[in-house]
Amino acid sequence: MAGAHFSFSKDWNPLHGGAFSVSRDWKIFLFRYHNRMNIFEKIVNREIPAAIVYEDEDILAFMDIGPIIKGHTLVIPKTCYDPITETPDDVLAGLIRVAKRIAAAQMNELGADGVNIIQNNGTAAGQEVPHIHFHVIPRFEGDGHHWNWNAKSYDDPEEMERLAEKIKKGLE
Ligand code: AMP
Repeated sequence: MAGAHFSFSKDWNPLHGGAFSVSRDWKIFLFRYHNRMNIFEKIVNREIPAAIVYEDEDILAFMDIGPIIKGHTLVIPKTCYDPITETPDDVLAGLIRVAKRIAAAQMNELGADGVNIIQNNGTAAGQEVPHIHFHVIPRFEGDGHHWNWNAKSYDDPEEMERLAEKIKKGLE
């Protein structure tokens, strides 16, 4: 296969044949290569479309396809890191700087009264795409969205203290 050149499109599927003929093993390899990328990497590589609002060398921001509120924007690093605990500090700093600018743009240009910035880690936390991202969600007075912020209470103050001590130990 030396010298072969391929370009992928979102609809391209080597198992369904194509403009060139390669062996079945190569088709399977190429199919797996194409599908090992997560959806955000495909957006970074321009293999699937997105409404991009910001781009620099390391960061991309684009409209969430399923907005909680219209204007909902995602900020991602072009390189995939996941979860936040595996993401370098300088990458995180760059992401939050861009999230801040997008929040300001949502307030100034969309007239948002407030902004939620959310970052999910793990399926238990509702994460779907395993590529770190910040959600920047414009909020409008009376927009009708309510987070299911179901506040609980501790059994007793000691329980809260015990958990605080564990977290403090993890920070040492
Ligand atoms: P999370 O649940 O934190 O992993 O969020 C993933 C987000 O990615 C969801 O809000 C989806 O609506 C959004 N999303 C998934 N696919 C696309 C896409 N192709 N273009 C834009 N946003 C997407």
